[in-house]
Amino acid sequence: MTNSETPAGAPADGFATRAIHAGQHFDPTTGAVIPPIYQSSTFVQDGIGGLRGGYEYSRSGNPTRTALETQLAALEGGAHGLSFASGLAAEDALLRAVLSPGDHVVLGNDAYGGTYRLINRVHGDWGIRNTPVDLGDLAAVEAALLPATRVLWIETPSNPLMAVSDIAALAELGHRRGLLVVVDNTFASPALQQPLALGADVVVHSTTKYLGGHSDVIGGALILNDDELHEKVRFLQFAAGAVSAPMDAFLTARGIKTLDVRMQRHSANAQAIAERLHAHPAVERVYYPGLPTHPGHELAARQMSAFGGMIALALRGGEAAARRFAESMRLFQLAESLGGVESLVNYPSAMTHASVRGTELEVAPNIVRLSVGIEDVADLLADLEQALAAL
Ligand SMILES: *Cc1c(COP(=O)(O)O)cnc(C)c1O
Repeated sequence: MTNSETPAGAPADGFATRAIHAGQHFDPTTGAVIPPIYQSSTFVQDGIGGLRGGYEYSRSGNPTRTALETQLAALEGGAHGLSFASGLAAEDALLRAVLSPGDHVVLGNDAYGGTYRLINRVHGDWGIRNTPVDLGDLAAVEAALLPATRVLWIETPSNPLMAVSDIAALAELGHRRGLLVVVDNTFASPALQQPLALGADVVVHSTTKYLGGHSDVIGGALILNDDELHEKVRFLQFAAGAVSAPMDAFLTARGIKTLDVRMQRHSANAQAIAERLHAHPAVERVYYPGLPTHPGHELAARQMSAFGGMIALALRGGEAAARRFAESMRLFQLAESLGGVESLVNYPSAMTHASVRGTELEVAPNIVRLSVGIEDVADLLADLEQALAAL
């Protein structure tokens, strides 16, 4: 299959090598360097049950999805990767695989709004209870645990305020109480943070964001080590069917190959922008873990290899200034989502986080979120300056 003893992308290889080669082997028939996109719903059998390569129907398995799932597992250093139609589809499959009516989930009080909506409003109707807590306060987390608690859901850095929580300490606490410890690693990406190595049981991704990296595909992933849990989630992936389509799996795999260099550039650009914003009189506060003034700075420096591309800022001029700033940017385009090569600006309280208005997860009206892209930093800084000057 390959021309060396160990296939490229094996666990011993470095991160960037795994990102490019794990699961992504050349086509043995033609030598095509890029594996083909298996745009097929079904697979011919050589006699009844005689499957070639184990594939029968693309909801249960498709070679393009398998290639991505192998790549995803290698990125997070996990035994198993599963790819879904969206981040929320991945979360739903995981939670339904592990929870029963009456069970309880503890999650961050600044969790992604869609995650909270899924757990609170969809799973809530099926008898799942939840308690949002400040994950930075271990005593508060401990106090929120009930005999029925099964899952501790961690998101760090969080969305949109970039709160950093201690994965190793929370995993230790969760395991003492027999919980499944889940980390949503969407904001950091595996290039910057490796939750399984820090003790988490499951890593969740919206691959729509940094892994895909080009704002052209929706997808989600789970990476985990436990074989039994893998079987349960794999069954639900097949039986409920929220799988990624072959073209989506291909686009995600293609994006992942440049993840390492993209994250370095996202982080460098965001650091420069955070410093500039921090020094600006119209800005009340900058939320970026790369700033020494950020309360999670030291923890982030230990837990992450760089600080990533997401920044939130609070404007002194309140809601009016925040809306005006968001609408005055030119290079930063006003849109939901994040993690693409192009810079985006988002007004959380009326856009991404509108669904959590009036709950504990509400975002203040003077907050603006930036997804800093990988354009020339001088152009991004000039755009910020002109938008701030318009206030
Ligand atoms: C976007 C996002 C999700 C949901 O993913 P989708 O692909 O939109 O379903 C989950 N967690 C975080 C942190 C996100 O940013």
